[in-house]
Amino acid sequence: MGNVVSLGDANTADQKARTHRNASDRRIRVLFTVPHAVCVRSAEGHSCDSAAEFWAKRFAQVVPGSMILTADVPRAQRDENRPHEGPPTAFRRGIDDLVRGKRIDVVLDVHSFPAEQATHRNDVYVLEPIPRCHRSAAAKAKASAWNHSAHGFVRLLRRAGLVAAVFPNGACVNDIVVSARNAGVQAHLIEMSESLPRERTELVSLVPRDWLLSESPSEIVPPPPRGASAPRGADERRRR
Ligand SMILES: [Zn+2]
Repeated sequence: MGNVVSLGDANTADQKARTHRNASDRRIRVLFTVPHAVCVRSAEGHSCDSAAEFWAKRFAQVVPGSMILTADVPRAQRDENRPHEGPPTAFRRGIDDLVRGKRIDVVLDVHSFPAEQATHRNDVYVLEPIPRCHRSAAAKAKASAWNHSAHGFVRLLRRAGLVAAVFPNGACVNDIVVSARNAGVQAHLIEMSESLPRERTELVSLVPRDWLLSESPSEIVPPPPRGASAPRGADERRRR
């Protein structure tokens, strides 16, 4: 079964983040999920996301109060990022409890892809679900704001020296992100290259924290329709 580990609270080294967060009204609670963590030796091809758990842990270490849930079955046996009939696994139940109970504000579903995957020239990409994946009223109302937020995340990755992009063609079967969104919770799927330059590790580790500090994703004001002028406060928030 998956483990809920509150790594962020144990971390006392990052006083800067803590001070920032205390100054705001409330802390943004983040859940990192790693559905494809289990590697099996015999399987051919990309049997697991070999770098995903590493990055999820690095991110969680510097995001105060964050949690990680890691799947414990190989993808070939059961893909934990797909909808399934029947009772959920402990991993999925853990996510559902946090999401439906509104005990978290943001889900970051962390994956990794092998270097030889030539279609992905990016070091990191954020895979955003296509619009029709948003079935609930809450998800439809917030989808454009979440997408806007994904672009903010990618901007910070680029600032850390990476080639990064938002891919807007995420399938609705990416069930962790899609379920969370339809429950009204902000969620993004992050794909990390398994050959990310080591010298970037420290900088890249800080990106989710800096992203959370730069905006309050659960309260983001959606971008105005074309031609309309944004309220001053909202515009200010987005530009940061
Ligand atoms: Zn994956």
